Parts: sequence; C-alpha cells; structure tokens
Amino acid sequence: MALLQITEPGKTAAPHYHNLAAGIDLGTTNSLVATVRSGLAETLPDIKGHHLLPSIVHYVKNETPQIGTAAKQYAHTDPLNTIASVKRLMGRGLKDIKTIGTRLPYDFVEKEGQGMPMIRTVAGELSPVQISAEILKNLKQRAEDSLGGALTGVVITVPAYFDDAQRQATKDAAILAGLKVLRLLNEPTAAAVAYGLDQGAEGIHVIYDLGGGTFDISILRLQRGVFEVLATAGNSALGGDDFDRVIAQWMMQEANIANDAQQSHIRELMDIARTAKETLSTQDTASLNIQLADGLQWHGTLNREQLNTLIDPLIQKTMMPCRRTLRDAGLTLDDINEVVMVGGSTRMPRVREKVGDFFKRTPHVNIDPDKVVAIGAAIQADILAGNKPDGEMLLLDVIPLSLGIETMGGLVEKIIPRNTTIPVARAQDFTTFKDGQIAMTIHIMQGERELVLDCRSLTRFELRGIPPMVAGAARIRVTYQVDADGLLSVSAKEEISGIHSDIIVKPSYGLQDNDIEQMLKDSLKYAKEDVITRNLREQQVEADRVINALRAAITTDGHHLLKHQEFVTINIKLDELLRIKESKDAKSIKKAIEQLDEVTQDFAARRMDYSIRQAMQGRSVDEFSEN
Ligand code: ADP
Ligand code: MG
Repeated sequence: MALLQITEPGKTAAPHYHNLAAGIDLGTTNSLVATVRSGLAETLPDIKGHHLLPSIVHYVKNETPQIGTAAKQYAHTDPLNTIASVKRLMGRGLKDIKTIGTRLPYDFVEKEGQGMPMIRTVAGELSPVQISAEILKNLKQRAEDSLGGALTGVVITVPAYFDDAQRQATKDAAILAGLKVLRLLNEPTAAAVAYGLDQGAEGIHVIYDLGGGTFDISILRLQRGVFEVLATAGNSALGGDDFDRVIAQWMMQEANIANDAQQSHIRELMDIARTAKETLSTQDTASLNIQLADGLQWHGTLNREQLNTLIDPLIQKTMMPCRRTLRDAGLTLDDINEVVMVGGSTRMPRVREKVGDFFKRTPHVNIDPDKVVAIGAAIQADILAGNKPDGEMLLLDVIPLSLGIETMGGLVEKIIPRNTTIPVARAQDFTTFKDGQIAMTIHIMQGERELVLDCRSLTRFELRGIPPMVAGAARIRVTYQVDADGLLSVSAKEEISGIHSDIIVKPSYGLQDNDIEQMLKDSLKYAKEDVITRNLREQQVEADRVINALRAAITTDGHHLLKHQEFVTINIKLDELLRIKESKDAKSIKKAIEQLDEVTQDFAARRMDYSIRQAMQGRSVDEFSEN
C-alpha cells in the first residue's frame, strides 16, 4: 500500500508582530539565555552584568532556592543542599546514577522502580527535573525582565547523544518552569547555526565542545539544509574541572601541603586554580595566593608554559574520541570542511592549537565559545517564533533510523524512512487477516532490516473493538507522528467504526549512536538476504490467507456447491500448498497458490451466484430495479 503523507505539523501560522523568543543553553556547568534583537543574536546578562549562570541550585528550608553565583558559595559549606551538575542526572535511572552518582556528593533516595532518583534536601525530596526547572525559571525571569514582556517560546539545547528519556526530562523541566518549548536542538547543531554554517555550502563539520566537566565531539553533515549527526563521541568525565584539579595538585606539591590536608582544601584550591587557568588564557603569567583557614599560606606564580605541561596529557585524551568519530562516520581528515570550538575550556590557547593541529584546520573561535550554543538556539527560536519573513529556511533534523510496523509473517513495513526530516506525520492503511478479527496488535519497530527479529522493538499496543467483519474488510489507519524533538506518537483508527487507540512511545527507548551505526551497517550487509527472506515470508502469509479462506468456504458451502470429484481435486492441491508452504522457495509457493486458485475458480463463481440468490430471496425483482 502506498505511503500517504497526511499532515505536516509544525508549519507556523502567518507571521505576527515580533514575538519574544529565546534560546537557552542548559549546561552542566553554566547555563545561558540569548535572544535576537534588531537582527542580532546576543546573550542576556543578569543585573550584575554576568552572562553565564552557574548551573547550581542551593536549597534553603522554607525559602525560595538560590541559583547560580549566589548558590555556588554554599558548595563547600552546605554540599548536600547545593546541587550542581544536575544535567548528568536528567532522564537517567537509578542504575545509571550509581555509576555517575559516586562522583556526586548528594543524598540520593534509593527507591526501586523506574524513573529518575530523587535527591533528599532540606526542601524535601527533589527530582533532577525539578532542580533543572529552577535554573530555567531563573533564565526565564532574566529574559523577561530584559525584554520587557513574556516569552512566547524557547529553544533549549541538549547534547546530541541525549536519548528520548533525557530529552523528555529536559522538556518536562521547561514545562515546570512555565516555558513553552518550541523545540529541543542539538548543541553541536546550535553551534553550527551560530556560525551560519547552515547558510553556507553543503559539507561536513566538526564541533569540538570542551566544557566544565564534559567533552563532546560531533560530526555533522549539512545536506539540503538539513544537519545530520553522523557520529558523536566524547568523555563524560573530562573538562575544565580536570584542568583545575591538576593545577591544584601542582600547587600543593609546590606549597608542600600534605596529602591529608589536600582533601579538606581541594575545593578552595581548585577555585584558585581555576582563576589562574582562566587568567592564563589571555596573560602569560598568573599569580597564586593560597591563604587557607588553618593558617597555611603560599604565594607563587604559574606561567603558560608550565600550565601547558600540566594540561597536555588531558588535551591529548580528547584526541582519541576525535579519531573514533571520524572512523565511525567513515571519514578522513580531508573530508572535514569546518571545525567549530564550543565550551569555556576552548578559550585556552593550547586547546585551540592542539585541535588545529589534529584537524589540520584553524578552528572557528570568533564567537565566545561558552555563548555560541545559546546564540545558535536564539537564532532558531527567532525563526520558529515566526519573526522571520517567509522563505527563511527552517533548520530541520532528520530521523536516524526508519520507523516501521510489524506485519504478518514477522516482517517490518517501513512507515517513515530514515533521514526523513522532522516534524513529520505519515499514515498507512492496514486490514484484518482473519474473518471476525476484533483486535489488532500494533508493534512499533525501528531499524532498516526487513525482519522483526533484526529490528529494534520500540513498543506495542492494541486496537480493540474492531467490529467483526470478513478478513480484509476493516480499514485500519495507522499514523506515525514524530515531533520536532524526535519524539514519536502512534495512533490507530478503524475507519468504518471510528474506534481508535494511540500511544506516545515512552522515553527511555533511545538508541546510542553506536547502535544506530551498527544497525545501518547491518542493513547494508544483509540487504540481499533480507529481500529474499521478505519474499518468502510474504508468499507464506499469502498461502496461509488462501488456505484459511478456502477451508472456511468448504465448511459453509462445500457440501452443496462442490461435486465429489472437484472436492478431491481441490484437496490434493490444498495439501500440496500446505507442504510447499514450509519450503524455503518463494517461487514454488507462489506457483502452488496459483494452481490452487485455478482449481477453485468454479467453486468461487458458484459461491458468488449463490450468495446473490440468497440475498434476493423473498424480494421481488421490482424491488431491486427501483434502486
Ligand atoms: P558546560 O558546557 O559544561 O556547562 P562551559 O562551556 O560554560 O561549561 O565551560 C566551563 C568551563 O570553561 C570551566 O571549566 C571554566 O573554568 C572554563 N573556562 C571558562 N573561561 C575560561 C577561560 N578564559 N580560560 C580557560 N577556561 C575557561
Ligand atoms: Mg556546554
């Protein structure tokens, strides 16, 4: 059956007056909000002039929590109520958290079952979504104060590797903060947009993002105005904090601070280290002044060369994922067009130098690397809010793997093929297989292969209450809809009776990029075999259908519409089909079906006549001719 495109949601209505829209970079270390004013995208400062909001929330009993710099100072004194890096917990289950959580000093509430773990604070048990919402509320307020009105909508960025659950959690946090999410945008894509790469030539771009605690590398391909993430890799425990730590350790050595003292002072020392590190991005030397509570004092200097020696091994660690993404995407350095730097740590001259050496290209650094993601998000938000004249291209993402449905014989019918731009909705009609069938299972599949066994099962649901009809009479329309954030919902409706059922494919079904890559490779590798298997399965299903229908016909009408000899001939062919059906040869099955069709033709014609006569019985011919 042909694919029908029924609607194309997400098309914005006619442009209004200027709508207030903003882009938000909800970062692990720092968050920002940006907007387009007079055609220019810029990040918005707080009243003190700070653009970066540290992603830290400090909870106080019976009071509104403090956010950002105000919260940061409590990290040492009230660690259990001062929540930082909450992004690491978004959309993760207790099992994931156990690995990450050991590095996070919070009081997790251990509750079995699904969902994100809660954190116990003086303000009660809080979910990562609630904590993130506090950061978003703060940015919303900042934007509305500075723009002088309510925001129509926002674009929020997420790492490219975020799965459905993590994306959904981010959206939930936004809703909780009273924000309307126009869409979620991948961070590397936002950075590429900020540099206007989407307006430029088609090509392949590398986004190198080194933040406070994480490193992400993404390879994007721009094709026909659509960015596709070809590969991502990274290190979720590598970033500016690690630079601070090696500097702090060096200082302790220099200052002869004993190792046991180290534990109690590490945070303070790391703060001093960070200031020095940031100074050294623009100056040649930085002075270090340690003055600890227990009376310990030390003064010294750190120069850029010494710094480079300390951090080179860490920068080197980012090169392995760079190599891996290239390999995963099947690319060489020559294929790369542009390299974009993202994240506060790429302000360091040494990082820029090493990345330039590796990719053999001067990376883009003109836009502040810690603001570039928010700026790209603001540009997207401006377009999505309808502030751009028609014709301005809307940046679109594509679905990485085909979405399909299980059909008879364990086959997968693709409903939305891979690389379709989103948002999209597609519908396809199906029918019942058996007479009197009153329910149908809709099994939603993801992948490129032909068999259910080789694809990934997303979920299944049932359409019940189909009125009993003969096989093939019901018309069940199944609609797949993927919204702009990549979230899938599926509905099924029996068109004659109007009964329907739907499901939102629950988050937590996300695929890692490695899985996607593997599934694509397999689909190419097995393409030929798959076609053969599909043919075979289709013939087997058709054989079953013919056999079932014939048996039913013989049961009802065989005794009075078939001569004995005919009955014998049909039975011989029927047995033959039953036997051949189990073979592995689609052609022979097809032939056996045709032969059975041939010997049953007369019987079918007689049944048709008979049913017409039955229908006319007791009514005059006049009655019919009037119609
Ligand atoms: P995230 O994306 O993880 O939220 P950011 O992109 O804001 O984080 O990066 C924060 C990191 O950038 C911190 O480790 C900070 O010390 C570092 N950083 C910020 N400015 C500079 C600078 N001028 N030189 C070196 N590192 C910097
Ligand atoms: Mg970031």
